[in-house]
Amino acid sequence: MKRFFLLLTIALRMQAAFAQDLETIFERTKGAETPTYEQGMAYFRQLDQQFLQVQMRTMGVTDSGEPLHLLVISKDKNFDLAQQRKKGKAIFLIDNAIHPGEPDGVDACQMLLRNLLTSKDGLKLPDNVVLCVIPFYNIDGALNRNSTSRVNQNGPNSYGFRANGQNYDLNRDFVKADSRNAMAFAEIFHLVDPDVFVDTHVSNGADYQHVMTLIATQHSKLGGGLGPFLHTKMEPYLYEQMKAKGYPMTPYVTNFGPNVTKEGFSGFIDYPRYSTGFAAMFQTLGFMPETHMLKSYEQRVKSTYELLKIYLEFTVTNAQEIMRLRKADREAVRTQQEFPLAWKKNESRSRPIEFLGYEHGYKPSEVSSNRDCTTTAVSRFR
Ligand SMILES: [Zn+2]
Repeated sequence: MKRFFLLLTIALRMQAAFAQDLETIFERTKGAETPTYEQGMAYFRQLDQQFLQVQMRTMGVTDSGEPLHLLVISKDKNFDLAQQRKKGKAIFLIDNAIHPGEPDGVDACQMLLRNLLTSKDGLKLPDNVVLCVIPFYNIDGALNRNSTSRVNQNGPNSYGFRANGQNYDLNRDFVKADSRNAMAFAEIFHLVDPDVFVDTHVSNGADYQHVMTLIATQHSKLGGGLGPFLHTKMEPYLYEQMKAKGYPMTPYVTNFGPNVTKEGFSGFIDYPRYSTGFAAMFQTLGFMPETHMLKSYEQRVKSTYELLKIYLEFTVTNAQEIMRLRKADREAVRTQQEFPLAWKKNESRSRPIEFLGYEHGYKPSEVSSNRDCTTTAVSRFR
């Protein structure tokens, strides 16, 4: 009996030490810090070493000279993505730190992967979806650590720089591929061929109540069967679920003009230079969640974590339908005779959206005194 207790105590201690080992920097600092590139990669490497369901590989090279990394998380430990696709599994790809000053997705993914692998927070590895994560896309920017290039942002204490090693904004370089990062991304994208793709960001500009905002790939431009599926099934689900989790979303706030309440928000055409527009060329459902820069880092990371969970749930539930629609749309493209190259917004059509605010205005920036700096949506709700 004594021996049993001793073994049990050792086992419990080991479990506690193991769990503690997997505490993230974000958690340890109570939402004040995000890992440096080296710290972040050390954590992902640890997951790779501790769990047989994780494989981390390097692919291509970035302008920093470092290779890109891809984490593949697969319940059946089969990391051959082509084989997984043949077996009828859907693939969900998350891209983080394209703008390393916006590292919310890095911290959210560390928690998400750990919780999936240790069956915490009601999560478990799905049978029918393989999860892929690019932990840091803009490695060059992540290595260029600072605390001042996003003074308009409420945490973390320090972070990477927006541009990459050649001073390119990688979020405009997907189809042009002037950076080696974009070339490496294309290689990863075609290998992974994701059904659902999420590229995590933080907003710039207006002030409002929502912690999370969303840019979905433009559904009419995506077209085929996937466009209506995105617009009438997937987007409503994401909005509904985020509201239920206490993070009501709004479409990304694009109107900084003088008459927000009358003009509303304009839709966003995601040309292929953006990640989601690039993804749409390959019949992939693409999204850019943008947390609100003035919300605390803790709130932002937690809302990103919740949203990623919702994406995963949706993909698990709808895997068959998504894959069927993608296949049909791809077949239709094969016989398509004409392809539009330019797109224009139809300004005559609009729909109401829920937005937590009732008036808007401008206030001078306390730093530059520039009155155009910030749009403020004041609200009496909440
Ligand atoms: Zn961004």
